[in-house]
Amino acid sequence: MVDVLVIGGGNAALCAALTAREAGATVLMLEASPRAWRGGNSQHTRNLRCMHDAPQDVLLDAYPEEEFWQDLLKVTAGQTDEALARLVIRDSSTVRPWMRRHGVHFQPSLSGALHTARTNAFFMGGGKALVNAYYRSAETLGVQVRYEAPVTRIELEGERFLAAWVGGERIAARSCVLAAGGFESNREWLREAWGRNERGEYPSDQFLIRGTRFNTGVLLRFMLDAGADSVGDPTQAHMVAIDARAPLYDGGICTRIDCVSLGVVVNRDAQRFYDEGEDFWPKRYAIWGRLVAQQPGQTAWSIIDAKAVGRFMPPVFPGTRAQTLPELARALGLPEQELLATLHAYNAACRPGSFDHTRLDDCRTEGLSPAKSHWALPIDKAPFTAYALRPGVTFTYLGLRTDETAAVRFGDRPSPNLYVAGEMMAGNVLGRGYTAGVGMSIGTAFGRIAGQRAARSALGQARHAAA
Ligand SMILES: Cc1cc2nc3c(=O)[nH]c(=O)nc-3n(C[C@H](O)[C@H](O)[C@H](O)COP(=O)(O)OP(=O)(O)OC[C@H]3O[C@@H](n4cnc5c(N)ncnc54)[C@H](O)[C@@H]3O)c2cc1C
Repeated sequence: MVDVLVIGGGNAALCAALTAREAGATVLMLEASPRAWRGGNSQHTRNLRCMHDAPQDVLLDAYPEEEFWQDLLKVTAGQTDEALARLVIRDSSTVRPWMRRHGVHFQPSLSGALHTARTNAFFMGGGKALVNAYYRSAETLGVQVRYEAPVTRIELEGERFLAAWVGGERIAARSCVLAAGGFESNREWLREAWGRNERGEYPSDQFLIRGTRFNTGVLLRFMLDAGADSVGDPTQAHMVAIDARAPLYDGGICTRIDCVSLGVVVNRDAQRFYDEGEDFWPKRYAIWGRLVAQQPGQTAWSIIDAKAVGRFMPPVFPGTRAQTLPELARALGLPEQELLATLHAYNAACRPGSFDHTRLDDCRTEGLSPAKSHWALPIDKAPFTAYALRPGVTFTYLGLRTDETAAVRFGDRPSPNLYVAGEMMAGNVLGRGYTAGVGMSIGTAFGRIAGQRAARSALGQARHAAA
């Protein structure tokens, strides 16, 4: 019998598998996807957020524990477990040498990367290179990996893990780590969670999934039904406004539309609905998916003029362009008079100031609702460009409640040999909101804790059996 079974094939699973193997356990990983698609959402990532008290190779200045914690506290509006959050923060300050040992390389922040040069360490070659490096290291260390092995259920005896089932095959192990992601690619579950709105629409039917199609939440649902303690709300997720032309799955990072704060955003009635310049884009990009989800038809348009071009990372597909605003309205299929009225009111409300996109500048509207608080310049210089937006789900926050040992809990009793890591428990730290790079910090910290604990539990059982 294998010592540690790891279910999943992304960052959290790999960190768990590598750590358990380093601790001397035999390890088998079960990844639902084929080999070519291995690595879940982790293959789409670019960086992790790291605490540091002084400059560290690719990280500038300092990003002390307290500042990281305050950032997390702010974005989650207090919906976070401080002890677990601080554990993640501290781990992020020491983990990179371990990552390097397993083949991950870092590079300085790229321009257009949400101004994260101080706080986030970027993976050379992105998440795909990170995942490939971890798989290579795992194989070298003797971790067995099976692809196209979706676990449909697990067998429990009280709180104890006995075996996992892949279809009709039973796979027993001494201990197990659940790292099978959220349920963002389960369209029925999203529909159930989001329900029907006052207009009779099922908003989630219009959502696009930024990452893998394999995170269907089958195991999460199984565990919740089996009585595991849960954390989070099923409608809470990291949701970005992305290019409406993005594919249903795996559009990844290049479908993000980053010009929102440089222009205005209107819904299909050509009405603005939120302050586009409320705060720096890195602190706001993750709320726009939800804002668009609340609009009729779950769609919106980000409109900029020539002054904004070159000030943001251009999306992969070109926008709709026009020389005049009426022409733009017609090209977008938006009600022309309403759009002109909205833009006229906005332009008239813009107060002169000194535009500076690198700080919270004094270019704002006056007497307009909703206001635009910063970077408000009139939309008046041709050509005009617009991008249609739809909600893009990154990952869901509903998960299994855990503690500093990463144990799955049942009625507040920790399992002696079943652990959880990554998106399946990120909701303990992220009740809502997001700050860029913390998903990988959580998965790396808890993946390693889960791997250590699972190895300790398995090796303890093996010793006990031999005695
Ligand atoms: C486009 C995009 C960009 C992102 N960028 C960043 C970033 O730069 N920094 C950051 O911190 N976070 C980022 N994130 C979030 C980040 O991807 C997640 O927080 C992190 O990858 C979660 O790791 P994980 O291992 O829990 O999940 P995943 O990497 O999603 O892995 C889950 C794995 O479980 C497998 N699986 C699912 N169900 C089963 C089953 N039943 N049986 C077996 N296997 C199963 C899947 O195939 C997959 O391999 C991004 C996400 C996306 C989509």
